[in-house]
Amino acid sequence: MIIDVLVEINVGSKNQMFSYNVKEELQAKIKKGIRVTVPFGSRKLEGFVMDIRDSVEKNTYDLKEIINVVDDHPVLTDELLELGTYMSNFYLAPLIHCYQTMLPVALKAKRNTKINIKEEKYICLNKTEEEIKLYIKSNKSVLQNDILNSVISLGKVRKKDIGNQNVLRTLLKKELLKEIKEEKYRLDSGDVNNIQIHKLTPKQSDVVNLFLEGNKETYLLHGITGSGKTEVYMHIIDKVISKGKKAIVLVPEIALTTQLVARFQNHFGSDVAILHSRLSDGERYDEWRKVERDEVSIVIGTRSAVFAPLSNIGVIIIDEEHESTYKQENSPRYHAYDIALFRAGKHNAKILLGSATPSLESYARAKKGYYGFLELDERINGKDLPKVHVIDMKESIKKGHRIISLEMIEKIKEKLEKKEQVMILLNRRGYSNVLTCSNCGYTYKCPNCEIAMTYHKTSDTIRCHYCGYADKRESECRECHAKNLKDFGVGTEKLEEELKNIFEDIRIVRMDLDTTTTKGSHSRIINDFNNYKYDLLLGTQMIAKGLDFGRVSLVGVINADMGLNIPDFRSSERTFQLLNQVSGRSGRKDIEGEVIIQTFNTDHYVIECAKKHDYIGFYKREMAIRKKLFYPPFCFVATIKIMSKEYEYGFEISRKIGNYLRNKLPNHVVLGPTMANVFKIKNVYRFGCLIKYKTKEEINDVLRELIEHYGVGSKIKLEVDINPMRL
Ligand code: ADP
Ligand code: ZN
Repeated sequence: MIIDVLVEINVGSKNQMFSYNVKEELQAKIKKGIRVTVPFGSRKLEGFVMDIRDSVEKNTYDLKEIINVVDDHPVLTDELLELGTYMSNFYLAPLIHCYQTMLPVALKAKRNTKINIKEEKYICLNKTEEEIKLYIKSNKSVLQNDILNSVISLGKVRKKDIGNQNVLRTLLKKELLKEIKEEKYRLDSGDVNNIQIHKLTPKQSDVVNLFLEGNKETYLLHGITGSGKTEVYMHIIDKVISKGKKAIVLVPEIALTTQLVARFQNHFGSDVAILHSRLSDGERYDEWRKVERDEVSIVIGTRSAVFAPLSNIGVIIIDEEHESTYKQENSPRYHAYDIALFRAGKHNAKILLGSATPSLESYARAKKGYYGFLELDERINGKDLPKVHVIDMKESIKKGHRIISLEMIEKIKEKLEKKEQVMILLNRRGYSNVLTCSNCGYTYKCPNCEIAMTYHKTSDTIRCHYCGYADKRESECRECHAKNLKDFGVGTEKLEEELKNIFEDIRIVRMDLDTTTTKGSHSRIINDFNNYKYDLLLGTQMIAKGLDFGRVSLVGVINADMGLNIPDFRSSERTFQLLNQVSGRSGRKDIEGEVIIQTFNTDHYVIECAKKHDYIGFYKREMAIRKKLFYPPFCFVATIKIMSKEYEYGFEISRKIGNYLRNKLPNHVVLGPTMANVFKIKNVYRFGCLIKYKTKEEINDVLRELIEHYGVGSKIKLEVDINPMRL
């Protein structure tokens, strides 16, 4: 028997597939998608079996033999095998990357990543119930009988839960009881609470029925924040499960899983598996196994949960479908929706995209009838969306309030007095964004990247947010030695300090990348805030989405225009989405909600539309611009990033690539090369070209040739991104 094995080798080689012989005694175990260990040069590698053949071919005598077979059954199902080929072709990514990205660490083709299965010891009866009952009747030891009775009534008891281990030992010796081991999952799946979900409102009910009965493959649910989308998801899943089918629910961020998972577990109990990157490798492996063994009907997770090996999928729900986290930023640069679409096709399942601010692409598709369109335009609590006040920071600064406007201060005071809660968004972590010498003008920049360092006061360090480089803050200027270092701009740390200065006894909790590095910190902050251990939650965009706190009556946004200046055709769209999402956190239950947006661009259409919660208005304005400039959804986009350690060389090659593309694709718009938004990262210069295309097939071969040409041995590195979310 000869097999083709796909391995991951880091030489950028085009071919990662190699043939091996399989000796007689291992042949029965070989299946497609199973992992094997193979010799590779002087190393041993793990790889996936891709193809199995008889060894009657020529030239097989010099093939090496595989060392062993890793798994009992394939880690890649037939469906995932096929999906990998599709991804590799569509995203022009190495096949091995596609498979590795689907699997939890413990199941990737990598050595020394194996996870132990945890076991729990249980005690159960070793004779029939009648025999044991007879024994109890004639037995005088009360202690023994207590244990026997509890095992009879419970069926099995965890060994460590039995109080008197000596007595237990006697019973085991008498062979009345026996010990068994069962696999124990690391994550507690919670009890089956089966708490009833709410009875749907007539509008919600319509949405559920239209979705279940309609004949489109994908539906877009445009529902304003607090309109009961999550509740709709649960009802749909209820119906899907009652037909014996299963569901995948994708959420954009881990922070969101906490509340959503709790709601799902309350209703569906242990029928839920959770998959996201904050789980330990062991936990992730366990959750994956639950799915693989058909023990759950629902998988909730972030992007990669779309690969969960569920059988018989009935629905795939993508919540907050517009979020850029659904796109993977490294190879394979896939979007969860594309994967969902492939899988829905295989399972004959439906896809539901939900959002209060759908991506322009999705909304346009729904309007054109490619997607079914569903709408929820009222809040469940019957209240209007929160009133939004826009504060002109140019005026505020004149009055001496640089960071927090007087209006915001008064409103916070008012809410605190009423014992309501406040959330404040500032989408920049750290203390300040630039550290500059006011004597000579020297600005601290990252030595490896073309970017100013951020000052972090808590650790008294300056840090690069691109490469992670960190340094102690110096007391005098590196250039002129004057003791005049000044920091400019405001990050979440400084904002926290400001708020504490203004409000004496305020209880503040901050949620950003710096306060959520340890496991479980997300959920702790969210739970504590929910239990009113804090008055004010401040944070980066992490706090903007999906969270449901009943006591929050004020949401404040500092520097709302920050994202508008990023040179990316989606910067307006993203800013609008962020403002709309965060506004939606206010006034979700019984209390009236309010929002304050601080901005320097009061008359920008993004701010105007956010003020009125006017998605349609925004959609129209933005579509007009996209049409004029010819950007998605009027075309698709692919980017080619060219990275080089040498500036001149990188630029030269980039120009060649730009010209090559223009030459080969005369019917397409090719832009560039331009310098990337952050031009130098980790001492590597970055250039970019951009292609606007209509059909993917037309550009595929040209791009593939390019990738192959600049593959092995090239001095530049090339990255192709099909439909990037960020330029
Ligand atoms: P969204 O996901 O659209 O933001 P949610 O599903 O979180 O909205 O609903 C907002 C709030 O309204 C939640 O607290 C939820 O429990 C409640 N809710 C949703 N649907 C109903 C209903 N039919 N009856 C009563 N309360 C509901
Ligand atoms: Zn850096």
